[in-house]
Amino acid sequence: MGKIIDGKMISQDIKDEIKNFVENRKNRGLRAPKIVSLLVGNDGGSIYYINSQEKLATSLGVSFNKLLLDEKIKEDKLINLIEDLNRDKNVDGIIVQLPLPNGLNEKKIINTISPSKDIDCLTFNNQGKLYCGDKVFLPCTPNSVITLLERYNIELEGKNVVVVGRSNIVGKPVAQLLLNKNATVTICHSKTKNLKDICKNADILVVAIGKAKYINKEYVNKDSIILDVGTSSYNGKITGDVDFDNVINEIKMITPVPGGVGALTTTLLIRNSCEALEYNENENFNS
Ligand code: NAP
Repeated sequence: MGKIIDGKMISQDIKDEIKNFVENRKNRGLRAPKIVSLLVGNDGGSIYYINSQEKLATSLGVSFNKLLLDEKIKEDKLINLIEDLNRDKNVDGIIVQLPLPNGLNEKKIINTISPSKDIDCLTFNNQGKLYCGDKVFLPCTPNSVITLLERYNIELEGKNVVVVGRSNIVGKPVAQLLLNKNATVTICHSKTKNLKDICKNADILVVAIGKAKYINKEYVNKDSIILDVGTSSYNGKITGDVDFDNVINEIKMITPVPGGVGALTTTLLIRNSCEALEYNENENFNS
């Protein structure tokens, strides 16, 4: 039976590290990190997400301000607000909840965030750094995949890693991070031929397609290590892209859904605010 890669346990370890970081600063008379998250309008998913970010940040001692803005806010007003936050030395991380309501230029607004406070790695500047292999706040879901592999001491160098999915928020950045770690990376998508054979030959398989239980035992081998990013609703339950029950006896290791990749993402976002605070204090981020 395959071993479970426990995202909840790793997430708890990182939460403890964040708490220690904040306490250690407080003991030295230094302030805690501060995140400001902007929500424009009332998108249900974004409200849920921002509330869970707030709850977790607060429980770890990280200051979290929610700015709830009218969906009819003018674009230049929103941009001015972000520019004010960019200048505020007591703000370390700025998050703009996506999607924005129609009529607002999402790319322009996101790219107003100072790269040194872009803890979600959404600005072109930070994404460019990511693709150049430079140090940058890592985007949370791709970073969750890498963090789980590293914390389980799974070697990446020279490994044959297959990423299924090529979205800008998951597939492409996770492939780039794996490449930065010297893995040999193949990216697959909906037009890929022989997907089963390509997946079956992978040492590590990362799946982010948004199709519940799509990957079954025909796509794996007995040494497969599987990172399942998918979160679809299936019979009312959050379900991954991998048919867990079908593959569990045929592989080496796997992340469950829930409790795998997704269990880390918000924790890593908050950890990025700690890194932002340190970088900005040391003024070395944009050098
Ligand atoms: P997306 O933007 O819809 O992209 C899906 C990708 O999968 C596309 O590149 C698509 O190929 C590819 N694809 C779709 N069907 C395929 C198939 N049958 N065979 C091969 N490739 C296929 O989705 P996303 O935003 O990357 O999200 C993917 C999944 O991860 C979703 O379930 C999402 O909810 C989940 N997710 C989870 C977290 C988390 O924290 N756990 C965070 C973000 C996303 P084409 O490019 O050819 O269309």
